[in-house]
Amino acid sequence: MENCIFCKIVAGEIPAHKVYENDEMIIFKDIEPKAKIHLLCVPKEHFAYLTELNEDRAALLARMMETIARIKDELGLEDGYRLVINQGEAAGQTVHHLHIHILGGEKLDWE
Ligand code: AMP
Ligand code: ZN
Repeated sequence: MENCIFCKIVAGEIPAHKVYENDEMIIFKDIEPKAKIHLLCVPKEHFAYLTELNEDRAALLARMMETIARIKDELGLEDGYRLVINQGEAAGQTVHHLHIHILGGEKLDWE
């Protein structure tokens, strides 16, 4: 997808601090962390919105959450973590390539 910053990160065209990668997803550090640990889990397939889920993408999203759970200790998230997906601009979505925010590394307040 042209001009999509996360597609460019997936393609290695712009740098990111990657902490995990497999054939269908990458996890890298958020450039403006909102918690002590703030990572983004991004599918390699471009689609913009949570509302564009179909059966295949829902299964991919489940695998992303399974992967995060499996490697949580390596990511420093053994005490717990919060997953957030912003759907649409009113919810604060600024990058139109689906991503899961992973927040942790400290006691998180509920806002
Ligand atoms: P959202 O507001 O849910 O669309 O989240 C987009 C997130 O991407 C924000 O938390 C940004 O800080 C983060 N972000 C934007 N550009 C980059 C980048 N080049 N590398 C890492 N994180 C980024
Ligand atoms: Zn993209």
